Amino acid sequence: QSTLKSSGKDPYPDWKPGEPVPYAALCTTFSLIEMTTKRLIISAHCSLFLRQVLRLTPRDLLPTVQLMINKLAADYAGIELGIGESLIMKAIGETTGRSLQVIKADQNEIGDLGLVAAKSRSNQPTMFKPKPLTVRGVLEGLMGIATVSGDGSQGRKVAGIKKLLSAADASLAGKGSKGIDITKDKGGASEAKFIVRFLEGKLRLGLAERTVLVGLAHAMVIHETEKKGAKLPSSEKLAEGEAILKTVYSELPNYEVIVPAMVEHGIFHLRENCKLQPGVPLKPMLAKPTKSITEVLDRFEGKNFTCEYKYDGERAQIHYVAEDSPQQYTSSASASSKAPRGLSAIFSRNSEDLSKKYPDILAKLNTWIKKETKSFVLDCETVAWDLVERKVLPFQQLMTRKRKDVKAEDVKVKVCVFAFDMLFYNGEAIVQKSLRERRELLHQAFQEVEGEFSFAQHGNTDNLEEIQTLLDESVKASCEGLMVKMLDTDESGYEPSKRSRNWLKVKKDYLSGIGDSLDLVVLGAYFGKGKRTSVYGAFLLACYNSSKESYETVCNIGTGFSEAILEELHTKLRDHTIDKPKPFYSHSTVAKDQPDVWFEPRFVWEVKTADLTLSPRYKAGADALADGSHKGISLRFPRFIKERDDKKADEATGSRMVVEMYQKQESVGKNKGPSVDDDF
Ligand code: ATP
Repeated sequence: QSTLKSSGKDPYPDWKPGEPVPYAALCTTFSLIEMTTKRLIISAHCSLFLRQVLRLTPRDLLPTVQLMINKLAADYAGIELGIGESLIMKAIGETTGRSLQVIKADQNEIGDLGLVAAKSRSNQPTMFKPKPLTVRGVLEGLMGIATVSGDGSQGRKVAGIKKLLSAADASLAGKGSKGIDITKDKGGASEAKFIVRFLEGKLRLGLAERTVLVGLAHAMVIHETEKKGAKLPSSEKLAEGEAILKTVYSELPNYEVIVPAMVEHGIFHLRENCKLQPGVPLKPMLAKPTKSITEVLDRFEGKNFTCEYKYDGERAQIHYVAEDSPQQYTSSASASSKAPRGLSAIFSRNSEDLSKKYPDILAKLNTWIKKETKSFVLDCETVAWDLVERKVLPFQQLMTRKRKDVKAEDVKVKVCVFAFDMLFYNGEAIVQKSLRERRELLHQAFQEVEGEFSFAQHGNTDNLEEIQTLLDESVKASCEGLMVKMLDTDESGYEPSKRSRNWLKVKKDYLSGIGDSLDLVVLGAYFGKGKRTSVYGAFLLACYNSSKESYETVCNIGTGFSEAILEELHTKLRDHTIDKPKPFYSHSTVAKDQPDVWFEPRFVWEVKTADLTLSPRYKAGADALADGSHKGISLRFPRFIKERDDKKADEATGSRMVVEMYQKQESVGKNKGPSVDDDF
């Protein structure tokens, strides 16, 4: 907090205690955040504002947080705005009386629809001042737009946007800053700008969700300390609050439950009041890649660990509460969290509800559990199963299943569930127990049914030859390799949402390469040559820089595609072209490096590479390397493996991970071949 100096004046004179938080006040904070790139300052602005909300209008803490993180509800509620540029442009035009042509021209020049909206609004004479927008009102408006469905929904969405935009403050940057050059202005507090950016799904403030979470924890700790009349809290106390909120959120990722509970009971009592519970999916624990079994042995030396088969299917989290469960898991604060008795649901690694995709699994669940099992959260992999040969089928088979409205009796591709972890059992969260204990409980709770439900194959050994044999056997059984996991002690607890060093993956294919494939976002494409002229023949891919919320180019790719898949990709991608790269694409500006078309950041593909190299043409990790060469990291000889429909663009491989992979490769001292940028 000391990072910010107070001017002594009341920064929000229009905001009276108990009254709804003015949206303009939040926008002022957004604009202050937008003007800096310093993480500490961003976090301090964020927490200062949340403190003010706590002091004056605690009831609005939840909507404020939701607007800050650019999310209307928890991921699993499936509420998304899904509004394309064209609808927003239409609404801006109709609200401000400007033609669509003019709006498009502005968008071409400025490249940020938020600023286009602000400009359109500021040029518009206003007869009378609209009633000021409030944070809760804006959230309600946005929610209304997101949940419109059925006939004429497009029109009603446009109407909803227009309603918000016409109530937005027309002044550009708050008081005293008239006449700013809109195309260059970054810091304007225009309400229209932030409404439009929310609709687009990107506030572009460099305000990561994690920063808001930390800001929220600090605001709570300071607020509670002040309420007691004590001086500012110590840094230990702030860190303690931060750790509590992070743990609670990782186990129960739903602000609609956490925020009201925190306001009611205080942050230091949050753990007792908000716990992992069936019905609220959590982000799964992930593994770090490794290149060799010896690397695994180095990392886990002297510790007990276990090697499990790495099944190649779809990650699934199954939540269950029996009809006769003694406990009921309703969270009073939340409309969207469902966990009464008689619950069974399946969620993806993104917390998407997959229950309509796997009714066959849900229908059989009862036959796999023992009678004493009344509730659980299971971590597992669904894998396509060959009923005749009685073995696992490749991942591609699983992908042919429909995603929605599947009827159990129509299912052609049968799946077998391979269970490897359990996070909640009979009324109790067990994430803090060791893996050995969790595994014991898992085996107590379920029984195997061939071809339907199995425990992941495993061997507890630290012998190099035995691990090698397990690896070979896993590959023979159509698995990707091994997952090696810490087994005992507190290092073997389940760490939700973390890519942890306590889980290592060893993939057969990559033992001689860089250790893992990458999941990359498609930013652009080049028209094909020769036989491929009617489709895209090659693509520009990028990784995701989460701290800058930007996409950094990492390679061109033209290998690994069959003619059929190129056709299919062309059909999918052509509807998502944009006139020019988004401002948050970090790419070469040299003319010869430009792709023929650019895309919205939407599609994620898994890509394999021989190794990594430095190149001035690409931008991945260029900041982190910061060696003055302006070179980024790029993939050598990249090959397309498959589409990753289960990952969103911002879940692509992170720039930091690319840097880590590169540094690891360099420290091994291998792969110093000649630098080759592209493979086509
Ligand atoms: P990948 O592309 O390798 O699946 P990822 O980013 O999806 O990578 P990782 O943590 O890197 O996830 O790899 C772990 C994935 O492997 C899990 O998400 C899960 O879907 C799958 N898996 C298969 N078998 C196991 C197992 N025994 N334990 C944990 N995860 C397993």
